[in-house]
Amino acid sequence: MSDAERPTDDHVPGDDEFDPIEVFPEADEMDLRPGADNCYKCSTCDTNCPVAEVDDEFPGPKFQGPEQWRLKRQSDQDVDASIMKCSNCMRCDHACPSEVPLSQMHNSARGEYVEERMSKRSLEYWRNRLLSNYRLMAHLGSKVPRLTNFVMGLTLTSVFNEKVLGIAGEREFPEFATETFREWWRARGGHEVSRERAEAARDRRGESGADKKIAYFHGCYSNYNTPEVGKALVRVYEHFGYEVVVPEQRCSGTPMFANGMLDDARRAADTNVPELAAAIEDGADVIASCTSCSMSLRQEYPELFDIDGVDDVSSNTWEGLEYLRVHEDLEGELAGTRADVPNLAYHTPCHARNQGLDGQAIEVLTTIDGVEAQDVGESCSGISGTYGWKEEHYETSMQIGEEMFEHMERADGDTGLTECPTCAMQMEHGTGYEIKHPLEVLEAALVPDSPETARATTDGGVDEVGEAGRRDEVRGSDREGGTDEADREDRTDEADHEDRTGRPDREGQNEPSGAN
Ligand code: SF4
Ligand code: SF4
Repeated sequence: MSDAERPTDDHVPGDDEFDPIEVFPEADEMDLRPGADNCYKCSTCDTNCPVAEVDDEFPGPKFQGPEQWRLKRQSDQDVDASIMKCSNCMRCDHACPSEVPLSQMHNSARGEYVEERMSKRSLEYWRNRLLSNYRLMAHLGSKVPRLTNFVMGLTLTSVFNEKVLGIAGEREFPEFATETFREWWRARGGHEVSRERAEAARDRRGESGADKKIAYFHGCYSNYNTPEVGKALVRVYEHFGYEVVVPEQRCSGTPMFANGMLDDARRAADTNVPELAAAIEDGADVIASCTSCSMSLRQEYPELFDIDGVDDVSSNTWEGLEYLRVHEDLEGELAGTRADVPNLAYHTPCHARNQGLDGQAIEVLTTIDGVEAQDVGESCSGISGTYGWKEEHYETSMQIGEEMFEHMERADGDTGLTECPTCAMQMEHGTGYEIKHPLEVLEAALVPDSPETARATTDGGVDEVGEAGRRDEVRGSDREGGTDEADREDRTDEADHEDRTGRPDREGQNEPSGAN
């Protein structure tokens, strides 16, 4: 994590005249000067920047960070437009030996550029806003997932998106699941059922009375597109005796930071921080299955927003595998387990690397019999969230990803593995491989009778019926009283829907389908 000081009354020796600039209003007490002054121009950041490597016109992170910051202060210059070419991969942040807060500088500069220099009537602004607010689109699209998937798969839609909106026509839109993670969670019985299962697991493990609780930050993609990742996380954590709560939440803000939409990110953080802080107060640790979400909660929030509880959220947030490695004997638990998923080509997302998580998935998963995973190297996948979806960045994104594609193809097998949903999209786009999340592999080894594991290995069957039956029982009890958490989730969805339509949400009035 970078070390920008916030707030600061540090004295720069010999410079008593120093007057901190207001980078943007919400963060007016953040002072980036001590960080900027740490830069000794070694250019390590530039040599680690994947965009600078393939785009000669991109000036690189050193310019975007400390140099531009100084220039701006000295001559009150506008932020250079090239800041919009930075993909926010944050590799420079990780590479800098002097802990210059590069990504904080980039995020601040991007926010200022969009606020002051980008026309709010331009297509670029609205395209970027649309991409940044994926959750709103996904919330609507997932109301009628089959229809949305059909429409988004039409060639006509791709042509429209490219010609009118500037969204790369080559990209395939990710499919919406027919049941979101939150729908599944509610239908299963929410926190109440998770607590019962966790207690049973703790008794089994001889840990009765232990206090084990996590708050799951599922983010947008696990909710709307890959609920199987969220289900895997819930089942794996319950296996270890953790009761799971799923607080109200909005987008982590990652795509908003990358597009300079800091007001949108702030609004999302204004929901996420108090909700997660309350769960922490209640004894939970926060776990994310997406490494960009955990990055955002851990680093970008405290760097950019002064919200009550933000430091607690930052210091109590973990990535899904990381938490189990630290708090459980994960490798011991996996010894003697089996999962038939050989020949995995693993890519470490840049944001995982930035949190020091590179290498952990391979190290953990290869202790499972039947799992073989090969690291495909240190290169960036190139997509960086919304960056590779923009028509003007598509080619750059694919050039950056070329090394990863080649290494994946050289590895045995045709299944990829990664923690980041957009890296997964790029891996699939560049190779045609099926992509799994490490938590799905853990689930296959530790909870081999879960419906998802059964479906992946046999065609589904008996256990799905068993779980559906349990869900029916739970729905009955929900109708009689329900859980506070499920009620809160319903209210969130209703509020979401009312925000945009002025009408209550149909889903909030009806019982969840309980399908799947
Ligand atoms: S790596 Fe850090 S110290 Fe080196 S040039 Fe970049 S910002 Fe400056
Ligand atoms: S965040 Fe990534 S793309 Fe942006 S300057 Fe740093 S290394 Fe380059």
